[in-house]
Amino acid sequence: MSQKNFAVILLGANLGDKKQMFAQVETHITDNIGNCIKKSALYSSKAWGFESDDLFYNQVLIVETEYSAHDTLLRCQAIENKCGRVRHEQAGYESRTIDIDILYFNNDIIETDDLTIPHPLLHKRKFALVPLCEVLPEYIHPILLTSNKNLLANCEDEGTVEKVEE
Ligand code: AMP
Repeated sequence: MSQKNFAVILLGANLGDKKQMFAQVETHITDNIGNCIKKSALYSSKAWGFESDDLFYNQVLIVETEYSAHDTLLRCQAIENKCGRVRHEQAGYESRTIDIDILYFNNDIIETDDLTIPHPLLHKRKFALVPLCEVLPEYIHPILLTSNKNLLANCEDEGTVEKVEE
C-alpha cells in the first residue's frame, strides 16, 4: 500500500472571483494531489506587504496525498499556472489570482532550494494562522515546538482577519 502523507495547504487570492477560484483550485487539488479531508472557512484580510484596494482571501486545506512534498509543490505550481497566475520579474508581494503554499507536510522539516517546510513565514502571518487554527489548533510546529493556537496567540501581525460569511 502506498504511503499517505498529509499536506496542509494555504490558498490565497486577491483578484477576480476569489470564491469561485478557490472552488476550482480545490477540484484541481483533488484530481491531481489527493482528497481534501478538512478545510477552513474563507477568511479575508487587507493585503500584506504591499498596497492594494482588493481584499485578500485565504483558506487552509488538509490534503491526503501519496506524493512527496516536492512533487506536491510541483503539482501546486502546475495548478497555479493553469488557474491563471502570472509571475512577474519583481521580487516581493503582488496581486495574484491564486497563490498556493504548503504550510506543513506531515511533521517533516525540509529545507531545499525550492521548498521550505514548515513554511518560513506562517507563524508571522495572521492570515495563515487564523484559518490554520480553525482546522488544526493543536498541531505542534515541528521547529518552533508549540501549537498553532499558541503561535496565533503570540503573533505580532497587526492585520485583521475576518471570516467571510457564506
Ligand atoms: P510565491 O511567489 O509566494 O508563490 O513563492 C513561490 C516560491 O516559493 C517558489 O519558487 C517555491 O519553490 C518557493 N517555496 C519554498 N517553500 C515553499 C512552500 N512551503 N510552499 C510553496 N512555495 C514554496
